[in-house]
Amino acid sequence: MAKHFQVLVIGGGNAGLSAAALLLLKNGKLKVGIVEPSEKHYYQPAWTLVGGGAFNIKDTERNEKDFIPKGAEWIKDKAATFQPERSEVVLASGEAIGYDQLLVCPGIQLDWNAVKGLQENLGKNGVCSNYSFAYAPYTWECIKGLKKGKAVFHNPHTREMRWCRTDHVPRCGPLAQGRCVEGHGHPILERGNKALRDTTL
Ligand SMILES: Cc1cc2nc3c(=O)[nH]c(=O)nc-3n(C[C@H](O)[C@H](O)[C@H](O)COP(=O)(O)OP(=O)(O)OC[C@H]3O[C@@H](n4cnc5c(N)ncnc54)[C@H](O)[C@@H]3O)c2cc1C
Repeated sequence: MAKHFQVLVIGGGNAGLSAAALLLLKNGKLKVGIVEPSEKHYYQPAWTLVGGGAFNIKDTERNEKDFIPKGAEWIKDKAATFQPERSEVVLASGEAIGYDQLLVCPGIQLDWNAVKGLQENLGKNGVCSNYSFAYAPYTWECIKGLKKGKAVFHNPHTREMRWCRTDHVPRCGPLAQGRCVEGHGHPILERGNKALRDTTL
C-alpha cells in the first residue's frame, strides 16, 4: 500500500521547512512528510550579504537533515508528477505517496538564458548575480575591485547592494571615479504597485 501523510510537503527549502515546523508546532501528532532530494539546504537571503562582503558563502550551506522538523519524515527524492485526482504524488523513483493536504514549495527555477548573453558571462567580465550559491561571492570581488567606472545594480536587490557598496567605501577608501547606476528591471516596481514602489525605491 502507498505511503500516506496527512500533510505532504514538496520541497524542503525555507518555505517547506517553515510550514512543516509550524504545523507540527500546532499539532505534534500530524503525520507530515517532506519530499526533498537535496542533502543540502541553502539560506538564500544571506547571499545578499555574501555579495556585500559581510557573510561567508560556506555558512549559507547546511545539512538538510539538521533542519527537518522533529516529527516529520524526510523522503529523499524528487516529486516527478502530481496526480490530484488520486491525491497522490509520484516520485522520481516511481513510488506514489498519498496525502490529505498537499503543500507545494519547490522554489523558483532560474533561467539565466532569458537574458541574452547572461549565462556565458555570469561570474566573469564583471557580470554578477546574488541569486546563486556559485556566483554570489563574485559580486563582492567586483565591488571590492571597483576603483573607477560605472556599477549598474538591478532589482530586486538594487538598494541593498548599493548600501553594501556605499558601506564598503568608507571602510576601504573612496572610489576615485566610481559611479553607481540603478537599473530597475522589476515589473511590479516599474509599472505595478505604487505604494510598494514608493517605499522600496
Ligand atoms: C539573494 C537573495 C536574497 C533574498 N533576500 C530575501 C530577504 O531579504 N527577505 C526574504 O523574505 N526573502 C529573501 N529572498 C527570498 C527567499 O530566500 C526565498 O523566497 C526563499 O528562500 C525561498 O524558499 P523556498 O522554500 O520557496 O525555495 P528554496 O529555498 O529554493 O527551496 C526549494 C526546495 O525545493 C526543492 N525542490 C525543487 N524541485 C523539487 C521537486 N520536484 N521535488 C521535491 N523538492 C524539490 C529544492 O531542492 C529546494 O530545496 C532572497 C533570495 C535571494 C536569492
